[in-house]
Amino acid sequence: MKTIFQKIIDNELPCDKVFENDRIIAFKDIAPQAPVHILIVPKKAIANISQATSEDKELLGEILLVASDLAKKFGIESGFRLLTNNGETAGQTVFHLHFHLLGGKRLGPLG
Ligand code: AMP
Repeated sequence: MKTIFQKIIDNELPCDKVFENDRIIAFKDIAPQAPVHILIVPKKAIANISQATSEDKELLGEILLVASDLAKKFGIESGFRLLTNNGETAGQTVFHLHFHLLGGKRLGPLG
């Protein structure tokens, strides 16, 4: 069964898109935890970072650079957090790899 993010990638569900190229899509989180809360998602179906392989090296690097560019675009480059939840215990609810870009307020401690 397709994940919600796969449906967004396949244009079967709408999203508030802020970036897209052939490999990556980024859109605003539907339930933002900060004034800026963007999800950066590779189009390749990788369940989470544990499932990534050395084949994904370049893609993972590109995601970090897209995150940095989006942080600048949204005016949070002086303080932002980029995180990925890996597995249910860590709070992962959508099993298609994604990175949360959070900022625009003082962020609390992790965990
Ligand atoms: P995680 O809990 O790390 O798997 O993150 C999943 C995130 O996806 C949560 O922050 C949700 O608010 C967000 N989310 C779920 N459905 C949608 C959607 N249709 N559009 C945008 N964000 C979504």
